Amino acid sequence: MFRGIGASPGVAIGKALVYKEEEIKIDGLPVKDINSELNALEKALTATKNQLQAIKTVTEKRLGADKAAIFEAHIMILEDPEMLSQVKDKLSSEGVSAAFALKSVVDSFVSIFDAMGDAYLKERAADIKDVGGRLLKNLLGLPIVDLSTLEEEVILVAHDLTPSDTATMNLDKVLGFITNIGGRTSHTAIMARTLEIPAIVGIGGITELVKAGDIIVLDGSNGEGYINPDSVTLEAFENKARDYREQREKLLALKDSVTITKDNRRVELACNIGTPKDVKGVLENGGEGVGLYRTEFLYMNRSSMPSEEEQFEAYREVLEKLEGKPVIIRTLDIGGDKELPYLSLPKEMNPFLGYRAIRICLDQPEIFKTQLRALLRASIYGNLKIMYPMISSVEEVRAANKILAEVKAELDAAKIPYSSDIEVGIMIEIPSAAVIGDMLIKEVDFFSIGTNDLIQYSTAVDRINEKISHLYEPFHPAVLRLIKLVIDHAHNGGKWVGMCGEMAGDTKLIPVLLGLGLDEFSMSAGAVLPARELIRGLSYQQLKKLAEGTLLLPTAEEIKKYVQENMTRSMA
Ligand code: PEP
Ligand code: MG
Repeated sequence: MFRGIGASPGVAIGKALVYKEEEIKIDGLPVKDINSELNALEKALTATKNQLQAIKTVTEKRLGADKAAIFEAHIMILEDPEMLSQVKDKLSSEGVSAAFALKSVVDSFVSIFDAMGDAYLKERAADIKDVGGRLLKNLLGLPIVDLSTLEEEVILVAHDLTPSDTATMNLDKVLGFITNIGGRTSHTAIMARTLEIPAIVGIGGITELVKAGDIIVLDGSNGEGYINPDSVTLEAFENKARDYREQREKLLALKDSVTITKDNRRVELACNIGTPKDVKGVLENGGEGVGLYRTEFLYMNRSSMPSEEEQFEAYREVLEKLEGKPVIIRTLDIGGDKELPYLSLPKEMNPFLGYRAIRICLDQPEIFKTQLRALLRASIYGNLKIMYPMISSVEEVRAANKILAEVKAELDAAKIPYSSDIEVGIMIEIPSAAVIGDMLIKEVDFFSIGTNDLIQYSTAVDRINEKISHLYEPFHPAVLRLIKLVIDHAHNGGKWVGMCGEMAGDTKLIPVLLGLGLDEFSMSAGAVLPARELIRGLSYQQLKKLAEGTLLLPTAEEIKKYVQENMTRSMA
């Protein structure tokens, strides 16, 4: 049995595909026939080029030309005459194998680029390593795992998955994920929930335990799974999978129902999305809007900024598909664990506390203005609300709003239309903002509480470090007090307040948040129907008392126990 952090609910049963980089060792002994080495190299080059071309075509079809451009760059690296001639020279002059010559040349190119310190060149080093590694595997006849061209259904076993892995993989064939590292709010976990793929993260060493082709069963709700289970366990998981499917089907009856408590308190259940493609999940699960569109994915996995036009198209697509339901689009939240190599940002000691998100946008207003222009132009196609991330002070909101006003004036001058009633809000994810919420609310139309970061900043617990994931505690009394403070600040200022951190979709926490007065809950699409079913069976008046009670307790454990015991009463 293995156990990790249940990151995305659901049961998966399937064959393992182990996705990891193995160190390839090659001896430098002389070879007998240099010509056959040269021939083998040529063959491997052709095979590699064909594979890259195929991946490029698939990516182009699935994700568009700009996302596929990276593979064109990879083909260019492969055809680079400088690198190839060095390999051939080494092979001929030293009489070593093609594989040995190739590996030495690629390693030296990678270390030269890597040592340059510049983030853009470091990314090129990663590209050369990637292409060189593929060529080497083709040369040695080793298997290559391509997530974009998966043909068989698999459970992916990986150290971690990068945003580019998840962006390019053939999702139709991925039944589940299990990874060595990560926490509930790491990128892989959020992605798995958005895509409704069962997943367990933070199972240290799982890539060493599992072999390709092993049968894996996993339950993403409780974080438990087995490698090559016996027949009794397998049957138990098959039953669980069936129950889970039946439960989902039953919940679909609530797809078009309103989210209202038994005593008529109405709240909104919206969804978090990362790309326009995720809207499908929102609509299929009865989401009442988009509470967080993380626009940074538009900027990632590419070599230059997305143009205003490209952004406009993405925002318009989401707004149109939501047909007038609210869509909160968050301005660029890059930095922390999300890098943009082409911005050439220096490496930082504490990236989560560094040059990121609104800080970059205020420092480089041309980036911010392009996004705001695209947003304003798209606003006429639906119900747009704009949200700034990582706000820590009133000055930042005023500065951002000033730039927004400038962009509006520019559009007015050019007679370009935009909606006149776009609400502007901020994420409350930094404790300083929570504390001065009474002042911040005067500057904006709404708050959305970003608990993923609020928990990490208020309790000083890195949200992606699985070693301390037991300390990452949404039920921490300080976290609940901060949330109460923010909700009260918003309501006292006559405004509404939502939550787009992962807490908002957790059925163990929803009763408390509802009792504290939260107006909007934004979550991964798969969480909407279970949340709606729960809320429709609750009494708001009783939850208010429940929430008050939680605020008097000193430890997370006591709060959890108290909520569990009292929930039965609120449902009565
Ligand atoms: C948050 O911090 O709670 C949030 C929703 O934003 P992200 O997870 O993108 O940092
Ligand atoms: Mg955040």
